[in-house]
Amino acid sequence: MTLCARPGCSGAAVATFVFDSTACIVWIDDLGDDRPAGFGGRLCRRHADALSPPRGWRVDDRRVAVPPPPRPAPVASARVDDPLAPRPDTPLLTRAFRAAGAA
Ligand SMILES: [Zn+2]
Repeated sequence: MTLCARPGCSGAAVATFVFDSTACIVWIDDLGDDRPAGFGGRLCRRHADALSPPRGWRVDDRRVAVPPPPRPAPVASARVDDPLAPRPDTPLLTRAFRAAGAA
């Protein structure tokens, strides 16, 4: 596993960055097998997403957009013991809505 190049970060590298100081541009690519050519390094997702170049520079993020995993749609049969499941019919919420004048 390759680690992020940022000092103090132990995240797994998922992207590479290469910059051209003449053209004032930074390219971000998916982590491949090849070492990045030129000046650059490898970054974890957090640092790749947060990469902010100096003023006047441009970031060209060429990573292939990976859609987030699909979230299960909330359905009426949601497990009752799931604390994140929507429970609009709880008496607490009903009372809160009534108190707010929304019901
Ligand atoms: Zn990092």
